[in-house]
Amino acid sequence: MKKNDIIKLDIDAMSSQGSGIGRYEGLAVFVPMSAVGDSLRVKILKVKSNCAFGKIEEILTPSVTRCEPDCTAFSRCGGCVYRHISYGEELSIKQKAVEDAIKRIGKADLDAQPIVSNNKTYGYRNKAQYPISENYSVGFFASHSHRIVESEDCRLQPTIFADICEIFTMWAKESGNSVYSEETHKGLLRHLYIRKGEVTGEIMVCLVINGNSINSPETLVEALKDKLGDCFKTLVLNINKEKTNVILSDKCVNIYGDGYIYDILCGVKVRLSPLSFYQVNHDMAELLYKKAAEYAECDNKTVLDLYCGAGTIGLSMAQSAKKIIGVEIIRQAIDDARFNAENNQINNAEFICGDAKDAAKQLADKNIKPDVIVVDPPRKGCSSELLGTIANDFSPEKLVYVSCDPATLARDTNILNSFGYELKEYTPFDLFPRTAHCETVAKFTRKV
Ligand code: SAH
Repeated sequence: MKKNDIIKLDIDAMSSQGSGIGRYEGLAVFVPMSAVGDSLRVKILKVKSNCAFGKIEEILTPSVTRCEPDCTAFSRCGGCVYRHISYGEELSIKQKAVEDAIKRIGKADLDAQPIVSNNKTYGYRNKAQYPISENYSVGFFASHSHRIVESEDCRLQPTIFADICEIFTMWAKESGNSVYSEETHKGLLRHLYIRKGEVTGEIMVCLVINGNSINSPETLVEALKDKLGDCFKTLVLNINKEKTNVILSDKCVNIYGDGYIYDILCGVKVRLSPLSFYQVNHDMAELLYKKAAEYAECDNKTVLDLYCGAGTIGLSMAQSAKKIIGVEIIRQAIDDARFNAENNQINNAEFICGDAKDAAKQLADKNIKPDVIVVDPPRKGCSSELLGTIANDFSPEKLVYVSCDPATLARDTNILNSFGYELKEYTPFDLFPRTAHCETVAKFTRKV
């Protein structure tokens, strides 16, 4: 098999990135936007020693799981990978992907609990970060690329975001502000970042700029106020002059309002700054946190909440727990977490700003003994050093692991097992319908 060959391929599995997989001359061939049960004519784009990549030339026999994609940007935009199959099929793919990772990489012989979904596959996101194209339109990056696919009315965002994009583009064209170019590192406007409180309806608009200020901010504020009324709470500039892929810098300047919005999650009123992490799917996050609390059984217990963001998981457990200690590396998120505790009259929570691994070590050195530890790390998972501190220094009865990447959860499951912690139960949660991502919450207990 070589590049540009046209082959006939039957798809019989899915990759964790959402591509269909078929076998040809003993090699796995990955084909985006295909479905298990498809019979295809595929053009080979790249051949490596252990696999190949192709694209669909013709669907000879479609899979019964196929449906009509309902977004004109699907296939060009790098966001969704599952708009061409039924949602039921997507859920079973994710269920299987999590279970396979845990069994194969995690070496735990345990089935997953049924994947949890509220079946809301449209408008579930409360946050969008749009790159800005040369002509001031906004969109999303194409898959594995920084080419912008214009798309104002993404189906995953609330419809009000499309209105904000339109207002932004109209304003930007007339404002005399230039657009940032990644190639030349010149120009001003980099990203339009919108966040909405699901329960409160409050909206934050943040412009990421390669400079210190923008022309005509007051015109933009007026246009947003006209459209959004009282829901529009704040306009913030994020000053990012670095030549980097990282969207936000740590420097924010308020142009209008106080730089925050509020939302309510699991009964806790949460203040959010632009830099604080907040789950993008509010309703599913509530179900996820309920499961985390059920696994933690934290009544009258001391809970260490590592990677706590704005404090949301720990604060949702604070009423029944004896004490909550949260650790988070982003200063603004810790400021939000402390404010959120006080604002909700929660007096049994304290928050530490620092690296989870270092802060855990320091707490262990002070002889603090949490009964339950919750970790919710970014995709790369926990370092084995942190898992070692958890297992050997704290040795809690229970560890609840909230994961946004099944592969690193599985890797850490294996490490935890070698450190004396057994995986007892795990439940996938579909927080990101139509995309390749899947969240999981897992309960580990000390073996002896
Ligand atoms: N538990 C929170 C946040 C989870 S996202 C919630 O549910 O909303 C992961 C968080 O880990 C982010 O807030 C990120 O800033 C933080 N983080 C990333 N690396 C870290 C590190 N080394 N130490 C502590 N926190 C870290």
